[in-house]
Amino acid sequence: MTPDPTGIDGTEVGRRLDQVRDRIAEAGGDPERVRIVAVTKGFGPDAVRSAMAVGVVDIAESYAQELLPKVRDLQGAPRGAGEAGWSPTWHFIGRLQSNKVRLLAPVISVWQSIDRAKLVAEVARWAPGAQVLIEVNVAGEAGKGGCPPGDVGALVSRARDYGLDVTGLMTVAPRGADQVVRSAFRLLTSLADAQGLGERSMGMSGDYGIAVQEGATTIRLGAALFGPRTDPRKAHQEMRN
Ligand SMILES: *Cc1c(COP(=O)(O)O)cnc(C)c1O
Repeated sequence: MTPDPTGIDGTEVGRRLDQVRDRIAEAGGDPERVRIVAVTKGFGPDAVRSAMAVGVVDIAESYAQELLPKVRDLQGAPRGAGEAGWSPTWHFIGRLQSNKVRLLAPVISVWQSIDRAKLVAEVARWAPGAQVLIEVNVAGEAGKGGCPPGDVGALVSRARDYGLDVTGLMTVAPRGADQVVRSAFRLLTSLADAQGLGERSMGMSGDYGIAVQEGATTIRLGAALFGPRTDPRKAHQEMRN
């Protein structure tokens, strides 16, 4: 592993991944089946390389302006021996402006933050048949991404009508007491069940244990794999997200 100016230590990432898997098991999940998506926002391209070096190939970003330069950097750089022939499966998890869809479409495999009809139409236009998750604002928090729980059914049908492959739902839990977080995840699971959707993307570094207990099939981890983000601006954006 080449030294990383952003401070990502490949050995540490492997160690942290082992801890995450232990915690998934403690929460009653199967560490082989709960998908770990590495969230590299706020970290450099070496975060992507170090995740892939320990076998995490699902990588997520929240901002188009951060993702696209990172992808260019990764394409340009010589690959390490362990990564030969690998390319990440990119997930988009942030607030998505419809005018960014066209730029992102060549890169993104899984659109996790689809929360309105306009985005359904844009993704169907630029990435026909793509895999999408519908993001739900389970607690109805102001200024947060996700559709209201009551809109999930209509949005799922709409996405299917447009030929998209709707595999599940995604949410970011409210910050708060464990019980608040738990009820948010529980609601997401029941909404997914009601739609017959198998995929439940929920749980971040601070709450993935609860998410796994409540039926997460995918967890999205940044700090738990890479350590704390050092850029305060990014930390702020993370809060807002
Ligand atoms: C930043 C982010 C994450 C990961 O956050 P960590 O706390 O670093 O694990 C997960 N999901 C979304 C939507 C995010 O924006």
